[in-house]
Amino acid sequence: MKRTVVCLGELLIDFVPETNGQALADVPAFKRAAGGAPANVAAAVAKLGGASRFIGKVGRDAFGEHLRQTLEEAGVEAALVETDEARTGIAFVSLREDGERDFLFYRSPAADMLLRSEEIGDDWLNDAAVYHFGSVSLVAEPCRSATLDAARRARGLGAIVSYDPNVRLPLWPSADAARKEIMAHMPLADLVKVSEEEVEFLLGKGSLEGARELLAMGPSAIVVTLGPNGCRVITATSDIHVAGTPVAAVDTTGAGDGFVGGMLYQLASRGISAETLGDTLRDPVNCGEIFGFANRVGAITTTRRGAIPSLPTLAEVNG
Ligand code: ADP
Repeated sequence: MKRTVVCLGELLIDFVPETNGQALADVPAFKRAAGGAPANVAAAVAKLGGASRFIGKVGRDAFGEHLRQTLEEAGVEAALVETDEARTGIAFVSLREDGERDFLFYRSPAADMLLRSEEIGDDWLNDAAVYHFGSVSLVAEPCRSATLDAARRARGLGAIVSYDPNVRLPLWPSADAARKEIMAHMPLADLVKVSEEEVEFLLGKGSLEGARELLAMGPSAIVVTLGPNGCRVITATSDIHVAGTPVAAVDTTGAGDGFVGGMLYQLASRGISAETLGDTLRDPVNCGEIFGFANRVGAITTTRRGAIPSLPTLAEVNG
């Protein structure tokens, strides 16, 4: 049985402040943190003990080396293409007091956005139980086509295709451009994870109505994350709320990625396929187990600072 969760997309070093609450220009000092949502998801799966692979591209430089090491230390198989064409991506990020993020990117373009379809070998996709992608790697070619081609190939090989639109507006030329591109790929996905705010942004509707519209485009299930309140799992014939785990949150960075990692770890280790996904997620008992687990992973991630360093082990989630 295929067990590997394969994630593909952006990979960069985030420079983040020691503490949140300042505009970027007011941050006195930054520290280095490996980043990129699909890489965080791969790390989440591996830290739980699942098989995961991250496909991406880095420059032949010290930051690229640091990213490879970080992934490998987390237990991820780092399927990284190294290039001399560009340098590894970096970003300066701060979380302002009003909860909004300030970004400054080195993308001219950075190596991660230069990943090409033909660089992705079959052996990186053949054993995928799940293929997971986001929307940041859809911002520019050639990475856009590489992300989508790999999704089609993985789907053809029987993998569940998981899509986290993970809207990052500063990366797009306009909100309309983001909405259009993100929505265009819903038919490729079996499983879509969105926050309530993203449903509102993408469709101008509330969770249930919005999710039903997304389901009509092809996916078997939509998972709407609700922060401390857990999540809602919606299929064409069901709508199941799975309560969150109460914790004292200190930093929500990586919570959504931890949650997705927990969800995909569960799907892969239970041997759920694209064909059985809808039926599995219509069942309240399965949903309670799979998403109760994912909620605990997300919740624990908020109790520590950073993304990859704050992801829990299986013992911590079950403890
Ligand atoms: P995103 O917007 O990235 O999807 P959320 O903030 O909704 O992220 O969080 C994702 C998941 O992490 C939630 O569904 C929940 O399971 C968990 N989570 C997030 N914030 C908290 C919190 N403050 N307390 C407990 N769990 C949380």
